[in-house]
Amino acid sequence: MSSSNQTALEVAQMQLDAAASYLQLDPRIHSILKEPKRVLEVAIPVKMDDGSIKIFKGYRSQHCDAVGPTKGGIRFHPAVTMDEVKALSIWMTFKCGVIGLPYGGGKGGVVCNPQELSQNELERLSRGYIRAIAQFVGADKDIPAPDVNTNPQIIAWMSDEYNNIKGHNEPGMITGKPISIGGSLGRTAATGRGVAFATREAAGKLGMALENATAVIQGFGNVGSYAARILADMGCKIIAVSDVYGGICNRDGLNLEQLTLHLKDTGSVVGFPGTTALTNQELLETKCDILVPCALENQITAANAPAINCRIVTEGANGPTTPEADAILKQRGILVIPDILANAGGVTVSYFEWVQNLSNFYWTEKEVNERLEALMVRAFAEVWDMYQKHDVDMRMAAYMVSINRIAEAAKAKGWVTITG
Ligand code: NAD
Repeated sequence: MSSSNQTALEVAQMQLDAAASYLQLDPRIHSILKEPKRVLEVAIPVKMDDGSIKIFKGYRSQHCDAVGPTKGGIRFHPAVTMDEVKALSIWMTFKCGVIGLPYGGGKGGVVCNPQELSQNELERLSRGYIRAIAQFVGADKDIPAPDVNTNPQIIAWMSDEYNNIKGHNEPGMITGKPISIGGSLGRTAATGRGVAFATREAAGKLGMALENATAVIQGFGNVGSYAARILADMGCKIIAVSDVYGGICNRDGLNLEQLTLHLKDTGSVVGFPGTTALTNQELLETKCDILVPCALENQITAANAPAINCRIVTEGANGPTTPEADAILKQRGILVIPDILANAGGVTVSYFEWVQNLSNFYWTEKEVNERLEALMVRAFAEVWDMYQKHDVDMRMAAYMVSINRIAEAAKAKGWVTITG
């Protein structure tokens, strides 16, 4: 979501400004939303395997708690900065708001390179981070989750550390846990499933039948592979997919079961029998009905947007389309389903995990998927209505739905009422 000459925080604030202007948002609420309510910077001492002590810098940003506690992932990466964590927390507010989850946005990060740490060092760092922020998080305060380079094992260590500090089990303090300690069924497939639901709703609005509609998926990891499988179950023909090593295409449709076996055997989709090879650039420009970028940010740019050859772009990845490309696609009549709506299935099922933890009653995978579908369908309809009422693209419409909700809550709480 960032562009080269602006910081991520500036981009997030500009998006807020634009949505506020379309909504004629009360300037007092606008000013509250511009900065996170609370940002922590912590120094985490970690005993390294060689006996030395290394200090790692960590952050946690809590943007806005108007509608409920804050929620968002923890990123372990050498490039983490306070500014980036603040921006990511604002985007989490937008994402939770568009689905109507009872959360504001939060985000955390630790400046580290997990590839350079042993498992023991990683465990000590994960536990140390939670000790440093323990007084500021909790099931009704701020609920972390996995993000870049953090996984269910790391989350399990964090959950255990928090429980040790508090002296009782509080599984709802963090989501993305393994199933054995309160994780939710359906979480692994949730983002890809949400991508498929959003695509289906968009196709319906455009009068496009999904039966035999052609789809191209960039990135065949967690999000892309489930999105492909579920879109295929809905009747789509998946004609091309790619990973970091390159792309493959067969216009008659790919056999996804066989492809998954090939990926397991070889570590890549490349070389799957019966397909022609494509570069990732060629893949993005392949003629199709639905293009689903599920890899990295900044893939559809001003350079290739004129050559994108589809009717719908569903953003499985975060920030795959640059603002310049957005404008070109809009002008070419290509509908973009924005990331904060299209890939919100993950945070939605994280919310379900928290609900199950708080009630100590666990749902079947079918129940999880049905509830996910209901929330995605409702959110899509609300964004579509906003899109129809204003001269904006779907991305701006999604921000507007979200900010409206937060503004209403802030007003109801009296945050901008002058009393006495
Ligand atoms: P992943 O690591 O499981 O998969 C990423 C895929 O992209 C892999 O197939 C990888 O080979 C491919 N890839 C990497 N670099 C590439 C390149 N240069 N060109 C083409 N393909 C490339 O990651 P994921 O969890 O599926 O996440 C994908 C995107 O979705 C990210 O932007 C992530 O932030 C976003 N996202 C993920 C979730 C989630 O629940 N996993 C939720 C919301 C958003």
